[in-house]
Amino acid sequence: MSNRIIIKPGREKSLLRRHPWIFSGAIAKIVGKPTLGETVDVYSDKGEWLAVAAYSPSSQIRARVWSFTRGRHINADFFIDRIQTAHRLREREVCPYTNAYRVVAGESDGLPGVTIDRYDDVLVVQLLSAGAATWEEAIYDALAELFPDCAVYERSDVDVRSKEGLAKATGPRRGRSDIAPIVIDEYGVKLAVDVRSGHKTGYYLDQRDARKKVQQYAKGKTVLNCFSYTGGFGLYAALAGAHRVINVDVSEDALEMARFNESLNPIREGVIEYLKADVFEQLRRFVDEGETFDVIVLDPPKFVDSKQSLNRACRGYKDINRLAASLLNPGGILMTFSCSGLLSSELFQKVVADGCLDAKVDLKIIDRTQQAPDHPVGIHYPEGWYLKGLVLKR
Ligand code: SAH
Repeated sequence: MSNRIIIKPGREKSLLRRHPWIFSGAIAKIVGKPTLGETVDVYSDKGEWLAVAAYSPSSQIRARVWSFTRGRHINADFFIDRIQTAHRLREREVCPYTNAYRVVAGESDGLPGVTIDRYDDVLVVQLLSAGAATWEEAIYDALAELFPDCAVYERSDVDVRSKEGLAKATGPRRGRSDIAPIVIDEYGVKLAVDVRSGHKTGYYLDQRDARKKVQQYAKGKTVLNCFSYTGGFGLYAALAGAHRVINVDVSEDALEMARFNESLNPIREGVIEYLKADVFEQLRRFVDEGETFDVIVLDPPKFVDSKQSLNRACRGYKDINRLAASLLNPGGILMTFSCSGLLSSELFQKVVADGCLDAKVDLKIIDRTQQAPDHPVGIHYPEGWYLKGLVLKR
């Protein structure tokens, strides 16, 4: 008999709603001795089959569901099938506009813990769960088969691996191993991505459509791009005819790459400026100096990583949004984002409103943005929706 998990009475509800996580507290009993990442069947206490899942003995999320279909075998074909299905969605939605996109978005694509990003001819894989790591060879083989022209590179260098009892792992896995920075083409904007050392898998693919949107507002304007990373929003703004763009980031490496990215695009010299600074301090300096801007982009890193940090994070969001609101010219545009999954869109909006209140500036929401369609949100997996954006006009 296979290893099984028996769910406590009543706790099967979320599984019946096809949420893929089984928390340790929902488990009544474990039958057999499943090992790290092993496939287990999940049953209700009444003996009803619910799902087939990957077991993770040290994680609070004790198991993640591979399939809700009885008789579905978890094997090499399963991974080929799921990756192929995921890729079909991207072929229609994003491939016409970019050669860099998320091929697999974990739980939302039925592959818990598996992130696969494509940068032209390199596939970057991040394996975040015990189940995903257990099947890594099958995943690499599936990619080699489905994308024969692509190299496969692992970037599982994230802290959450430790919660799953896994060490960090990086390196070439299939195809060529000399992975130099790759120049991607996103809506015609050229941008170099270093998949070996860049943030996450190299770039913030989820913000693609928000970057595109800045072009609606940038022509002839002064644009302040805060938390610029490798300059994405700044490139789009400059290419749309911005009069002046200022990229601000604390990371010299990011700004170095941003300067290189400018050289890849037909941008008039001197339009883009680079400031190595802490955004919180720099915005205050601009206020003191009486500087103002037509367009301000606030795309900070994740401020919330646990429920405990929510309050502090809100103060951070409020602070930068307050300062940005007071730096906006009349008629100016603020594009403000949060990529903290634990911060709801309602609360984010309220925090921005609080910032405006303190700045004594009345802004109006004229648009909203969210993660690009290659970062879909499984309808049964609300956690997949993490990126929120507001476009406000003064
Ligand atoms: N907008 C970017 C992604 C931003 S990622 C894009 O579209 O690609 C967040 C960036 O914020 C990182 O580059 C990080 O170096 C920078 N950062 C984090 N804290 C900062 C701070 N306090 N001041 C300035 N930059 C900061």
